[in-house]
Amino acid sequence: MIEYVISPEPQVSLAVIGERRRFPVRRIFCVGRNYAAHAREMGQDPDREPPFFFTKPASSIVPEGVDIPYPPQTAEFHFEAELVIAIGQEAIACSVARARDCIYGVAIGNDLTRRDLQSKAKDKGQPWDWGKGFDHSAVCGPIHPVATVADLSRGRIELQLNGRVKQEGDLADLIWSVDEVISIISQSMALRPGDLIYTGTPAGVGPMQVGDVVQISIDGLGAIEHTIVAPDARFQSTNDGSGTISIS
Ligand code: MN
Repeated sequence: MIEYVISPEPQVSLAVIGERRRFPVRRIFCVGRNYAAHAREMGQDPDREPPFFFTKPASSIVPEGVDIPYPPQTAEFHFEAELVIAIGQEAIACSVARARDCIYGVAIGNDLTRRDLQSKAKDKGQPWDWGKGFDHSAVCGPIHPVATVADLSRGRIELQLNGRVKQEGDLADLIWSVDEVISIISQSMALRPGDLIYTGTPAGVGPMQVGDVVQISIDGLGAIEHTIVAPDARFQSTNDGSGTISIS
């Protein structure tokens, strides 16, 4: 038995609908833009340019039933409703035709974003990690095994903030389909069981405040609901009163 000098963190996992066993999360890939209307609202050309990707750490997962603390160093904490793919089999240089075989299931996700930090990084040509891969930034509902899902090529996706519709779209409007996204990533990286892929968000992204309730639904997958709660007070000041160096 391997012994460690510090205690390893527990395996991050998600519930699976109709299963006692859980889905272990390995890596999180996200498509940078995948609905034409959202590309336009972000000031980009929605033509079918090759997609680009960023990642979040598995530790950023927020499962259903867990509150989301408002993150530090942002005044623009944005929601992004997305379909999430859960990989169940290794995919290396996988064709579009075979991509479906690699999917274990799908889920409803929210690609939480510190938009101000992301915009600043974009302007300076810097990495997106601080805007995208922060703590509690990858909301993901329970996994629906793919055999129980009727169709991944269409279906309404909708986000409500405090009961008001903010984002609405249809999976049919994805610039790059679920199968195409898997195939493209698998040309660059070996997708492995446990990997998640956030497939991009429709138009209508916007900010959240403490106390807001955000609900996302996708046809056939039900809905997930999360509440934004007060920031972690430990970020407010150093515990020895000596001050910090701020990058913002
Ligand atoms: Mn996104």
